[in-house]
Amino acid sequence: MSDTVFGKIIRRELPADIVYEDELSLAIRDINPQAPTHILVIPKKPIPQLDAATLEDRDLLGHLLLTVKKVAEQVGLGNGYRVVINNGHDGGQTVSHLHLHILGDRQMKWPPG
Ligand code: 5GP
Repeated sequence: MSDTVFGKIIRRELPADIVYEDELSLAIRDINPQAPTHILVIPKKPIPQLDAATLEDRDLLGHLLLTVKKVAEQVGLGNGYRVVINNGHDGGQTVSHLHLHILGDRQMKWPPG
């Protein structure tokens, strides 16, 4: 059970623009997009952050990456996209429920700010 905003969205206690769902994950459009396409892939299991994942989560973590690929294809990001995981305070994480950002439909720069 996750009391974060993502836990509430997964339980349908809060609305979201859902673009994909399966038994292990949910993908939603970010409420404050940082690119023309900005989607969050969220595991239904409430892992607070990447650091909290364990060997037990190995298959789930692989599933999330393959879900990113599937969602990117579904929304037409054929020219490429960026995948980001913010981990903890200094990583810029603001919601304590693991999620992967998909950012696309603009040219990304490297290094990021
Ligand atoms: P973080 O900074 O933790 O890596 O990313 C959290 C993301 O969740 C941010 O990009 C933020 O805009 C998004 N977000 C926060 N609250 C909500 C919400 O209620 N709905 C949706 N769709 N996105 C949210």
